[in-house]
Amino acid sequence: MSDLTSLTLTDALEGLENKTFSARELTQAFVDVIEASNDTLNAYVVKTPEKALDMADVSDARRAKGEAGLLDGAPIGVKDLYCTKGVRTTACSEILGEFTPTYESTVTQNLWDQGAVMLGKLNMDEFAMGSSNETSRFGPPANPWRREGSNATLTSGGSSGGSATAVAADLCLAATASDTGGSIRQPASFTGTVGIKPTYGRASRYGMVAFASSLDQAGPIAKTVADAALLTEVMCSHDAKDSTSLPVETPQWRHDVSKGVKGMKIGIPKEYRVDGMPQAIEDLWQQGIDWLKAQGAEIVEVSLPHTKYALPAYYIVAPAEASSNLARYDGMRYGARVQGDNLTGTYEGTRADGFGAEVQRRLMIGTYVLSSGYYDAYYLRAQKVRTRILQDFETVFTEVDALLTPTCPSAAFAYGEKSDDPVEMYLNDIFTVTANLAGLPGISVPAGVDGQGLPLGLQIVGKALDEATCFRVAGAIEEAAGFVAKPERWW
Ligand code: GLN
Repeated sequence: MSDLTSLTLTDALEGLENKTFSARELTQAFVDVIEASNDTLNAYVVKTPEKALDMADVSDARRAKGEAGLLDGAPIGVKDLYCTKGVRTTACSEILGEFTPTYESTVTQNLWDQGAVMLGKLNMDEFAMGSSNETSRFGPPANPWRREGSNATLTSGGSSGGSATAVAADLCLAATASDTGGSIRQPASFTGTVGIKPTYGRASRYGMVAFASSLDQAGPIAKTVADAALLTEVMCSHDAKDSTSLPVETPQWRHDVSKGVKGMKIGIPKEYRVDGMPQAIEDLWQQGIDWLKAQGAEIVEVSLPHTKYALPAYYIVAPAEASSNLARYDGMRYGARVQGDNLTGTYEGTRADGFGAEVQRRLMIGTYVLSSGYYDAYYLRAQKVRTRILQDFETVFTEVDALLTPTCPSAAFAYGEKSDDPVEMYLNDIFTVTANLAGLPGISVPAGVDGQGLPLGLQIVGKALDEATCFRVAGAIEEAAGFVAKPERWW
């Protein structure tokens, strides 16, 4: 492992500013490690080394002229659901074939505008549906972490598994990801990295391949809370090209990370103590509570009574929106096509061949819950539950500043362990989907390891538009935890 690739984003930017190394040297170091290890880790599904080195040279020239942006010269990986002009974007689905966008997503454009360097496109579950990346057309990435004394390959979570692998294995300084029901926070928890889903509407969805439009939100996976804050700041913006983009200023969150939690009230939702949660996660949660208390926060037990309905509501709303969004893939305008005897045959063949089993399952569920006769019983009901869940949060947020919960009910699991039972896979999202249903910001920060040496994350959920508090609490936990463990290198 080269020293340059193990730097944090913040330290790398300092090294660039102090001319300790150039953007080209830094980028070359990443290009080399990706070349050496991607066959094993399968984090990148498209590598763009020439583009990266060109961008690095332009960055060096810009810095020499004193015009460096916030991320100038920082090599970043991009989840494969962000449209990148001239670079293949398939959301890891067969149905997108060799689709190469002619335009750039707003989030990635914001990164390039601040000088970031693109290393390539990162692996993910097909259309971001999944919690393990087993649905990727390109096969799953490997989690760099392994259980002590075992060679079993573990999942780095999903759907942003490629982003999490790449950050944890030092194959980029940081990565873009996206979160519809936990796809930033769960992979971050499984890989000892930091991931934040901002408030719904903070980042533009323009140019992101849509899964469930009322839940999808962009965010980063990074090595530290400070790195995540800086990246979130750059990724978020008001954008007229997304009608749900919020017309608000983006704060400078990097200044919040070390402000501490003195005087804050932190809620502990009792409904998140679910049956069968491993003791190590219970213990870590308690440890997190103790850390925050020791730093001057007041801990308050709170109740979010509708929590138990969140997962069923999510698995109605998300497939419903997906069935509508994915109707556009019909083999006519772009992507792959299976020619049939007539138009209907072409549609059917294309969609039967192009979508994987999990995507097809969701499209069928989504179509069913939206169909006349069932719409009221399922979709409308789920939307009402969603309102209740939001009201629960609004009530507790009159009393507390943020909530502390585990990010996931388990540590990283091995491939195949949950893939036979979709419901068991869906249970992974139990602590994360609520923030999506309510549109609230949620961050996962690594806080410790379990008995087998695997990383575990704690989640902080904040009020709408109050990412600042999430970063403060996460910063406090990061400092108290002093989480410096790195996976032992086997790849
Ligand atoms: N695991 C969840 C799902 O499969 C969340 C996915 C996501 O956030 N994109 O729907």
